[in-house]
Amino acid sequence: MNTQEIKALNDKYIINTYGERKLAFVRGLGSRLWDADGKEYLDFFAGIAVVSLGHCHPAVTEAICTQARTLVHTSNLYYIEPQVRLAELLATHSFADRWFFANCGATANESAIKLARRYWAQQGTPKPHIIAAENSFHGRTLATITATGQKKYQAGFEPMMPGFSHVPYDDVAALEAAITPETGAILLEPIQGEGGVRVPDELYLPAVRRLCDERGVLLIFDEVQTGMGRTGKLFCHEHAGIAPDIVTVAKALGNGVPIGAMGCTETVASGFAPGTHATTFGGNPLCCAAAVATLNVLLADGFLQAVRETGAYFMEALAGLAAKHAAIKDVRGKGLMVGVELDKPAGPIVGKMLDAGIVCGPAGPNVLRFAPPLIVTRNDVDRVVSTLDAVLGEA
Ligand SMILES: *Cc1c(COP(=O)(O)O)cnc(C)c1O
Repeated sequence: MNTQEIKALNDKYIINTYGERKLAFVRGLGSRLWDADGKEYLDFFAGIAVVSLGHCHPAVTEAICTQARTLVHTSNLYYIEPQVRLAELLATHSFADRWFFANCGATANESAIKLARRYWAQQGTPKPHIIAAENSFHGRTLATITATGQKKYQAGFEPMMPGFSHVPYDDVAALEAAITPETGAILLEPIQGEGGVRVPDELYLPAVRRLCDERGVLLIFDEVQTGMGRTGKLFCHEHAGIAPDIVTVAKALGNGVPIGAMGCTETVASGFAPGTHATTFGGNPLCCAAAVATLNVLLADGFLQAVRETGAYFMEALAGLAAKHAAIKDVRGKGLMVGVELDKPAGPIVGKMLDAGIVCGPAGPNVLRFAPPLIVTRNDVDRVVSTLDAVLGEA
């Protein structure tokens, strides 16, 4: 099918939640994508920070094919070998002793919210209230849109879940003032993604950790976007030198195969008991085999170091552009999670970049977001920066 044929069927049969789009990609390899009309693109978005090893990475493709020939699904009524391998790998490389596998970011966050509530209930001191940040994004289920601090995701779906409140991000005093005896957990992104690639002050996350310890509140980091090497460390919170009690990941965990996960300390894990939480697909052999292969590449010698270096090179080049184009208000990010704040809507610029063969996206109304496959080269970065230079020059 060509683009027009795909669009015609989409417009007839797909429920219209995504609106009009320009094209359909039909093939990918590394940092390259091809659309249904044969045009090639350089991908600096990776399917919203998902395909971190690049499209059709041979190690992941091999793992998927081998597992697909061996065993695809059995349910969690039985032990699952790829699932325990994945949990062991994640536990070995993080603070989290135990893991629960979900299907996506939202269901990983649902698991975290349920665990926090049940942990305190089990302790005999129910504290169901959760504080999240304004401008945050935690997913599209009813609990996670409630946690999400942006009204546009909630409108029309009221009533929201009880027991959530919001404070300004990167403001320890606001958080401290919002804690009550009912507060069981604080839920934060270590860098806000959808909210505009907002990087908090270096002292923010350590101060939040101290506050949680002092006040007996669990700290949940939503690393659905920042996790799995995106910022140049396996988990973004490692940059801050602290760890949460519960972490969630998803996007890049399976390099494009749908999988989410929640990890926590041994103590907090005791909040769940057999029968208290479950999923049909979560942790299935196919997805876990893909995630094991993905993690093994991310953890190989020098991989994350290269992400930090390419990210620094990219940010420096963008800072150079900012000096030249008044339209650029700010350049921010960490590793290869990069935001460019503009003095105008990002949407039209994203469209012009796409016309010029570069895939990127928005994060909030005025921020251009780059989340390339972590394997991109300096040449790729140079091409993106010179294209943005030209696009901003025309505008
Ligand atoms: C994308 C995202 C989610 C939601 O993940 P889904 O897989 O779309 O459910 C949650 N939190 C953050 C920080 C995200 O970026």
